[in-house]
Amino acid sequence: VSGGLDAAQLKSSGIRLVLGTTVDYSGVVRAKGVPAPRLDAFVDSGMGASPSWVVFCVDFGIAFTPDLGVVGDLRLRVDPDRLVMIDNGIAWAPATMYHQDGTVFRGCPRARLTAVLQRVADARLSAKTGAELEFVLVHPDGSPLDGEPWNGYGVRAALRHGGLLVDLVKSFDDAGLGVEQIHTEYGANQVELSLSPSDPLCTADNTVLARILIGRAAARAGLGVSFSPVPFAGSVGNGAHLHMSLERDGTPLFSGSSGPHGISAAGGSAIAGILSALPDLQGVLAGSAVSAFRLQPQRWSGAFACWGLENREAALRFIEASASNPLGANLEIKIIDGSANPYLVPSVLLGAALDGIEAGLELPAEVTVDPATLPDDEKKSIALAADQATALDRLASSLQARALLGDDIHAGVLAVRRYEQTTFGGQNPDAVTAAFRLAFSC
Ligand code: GLU
Ligand code: MG
Repeated sequence: VSGGLDAAQLKSSGIRLVLGTTVDYSGVVRAKGVPAPRLDAFVDSGMGASPSWVVFCVDFGIAFTPDLGVVGDLRLRVDPDRLVMIDNGIAWAPATMYHQDGTVFRGCPRARLTAVLQRVADARLSAKTGAELEFVLVHPDGSPLDGEPWNGYGVRAALRHGGLLVDLVKSFDDAGLGVEQIHTEYGANQVELSLSPSDPLCTADNTVLARILIGRAAARAGLGVSFSPVPFAGSVGNGAHLHMSLERDGTPLFSGSSGPHGISAAGGSAIAGILSALPDLQGVLAGSAVSAFRLQPQRWSGAFACWGLENREAALRFIEASASNPLGANLEIKIIDGSANPYLVPSVLLGAALDGIEAGLELPAEVTVDPATLPDDEKKSIALAADQATALDRLASSLQARALLGDDIHAGVLAVRRYEQTTFGGQNPDAVTAAFRLAFSC
């Protein structure tokens, strides 16, 4: 993101309002704003927010925990280097949460990712990530678009929404946000856009920015947009896949070595680390009350904890370095959906990869077929949880997940998702998907 506008530049760009965002544990983007001349105060002392901000829920219930309640106050401080114009008169920047005494709030997802990236750097590693955003165009009230039948990946579908796609590409370009590719997806009125790879903090910030720009472009076209894991009961889901690569001292871990597909020993341990933690982390990566509707076999959503070269049914699809992949070998983590917090996702995945490297885990055998076609016992051993309750029980009892998130975030994420389980667990899929449809839109 090209940012870093100062007060004078804000004025000359016609910016009157600066919005600072943070993402709560339910995956909803929240914001506070200041008039443009107050930008310095937003950067230095921050704007007030209750600790309950992180445990707000999709329906605006609040999942209080003993530590995240009505008493106390935090400060949202925006990162001025990431400041970008997002609409007429409005600039945006991501915020980190601090205590009033100026120390970082341990429950802040953006602060957590910053801490994990320090652990990555301490291990002499560096990581790159690239986010994919899938979304479904809807009417502004969330009702489905009608009209001609959809043709997934079809040029007719792309041209039908051509004006919107051009507007999107332009607004991403204006915001300095790189787009690798864009296409109309399998689901009716579904679009996918891939962001260019960058350092993981930038990718997380850019995911929020991208959702904002997509929301703005859709609004200009008189439309709404859903990033929900399953916007309509029985429909195709929205993934939020993340591509990830690792280097040590500039040498890639996923290519150029003697392991399968050139994977190094440390790269294999990183993959093994993520794979072994995946059942415990499902509640973070795809933990909402609608997530299990999406995470099913033969939906390309990665419902099995296995890896394989270009295997779109594996939770970890491996992509080899090749002439047609100049960005280099990487791992696509497919299980993630649009309800996941974009800062917590790389926090736990990178943490699990490091755990795997530190423990010297061995790369498990590759799955080279659709895992749904494996013999029953093999299939069962790698199937991820098919319901929210099971995924949350795993998360709750996982010491590793707790260490990767920190106690506060672990407790808070569980509180929010348990609230969803209690509130929405007994409702029919139409009602649940309707309640979540626009929750993750910006
Ligand atoms: N829509 C699928 C999902 O829910 C992903 C399709 C794809 O591989 O791009 O994750
Ligand atoms: Mg896709």
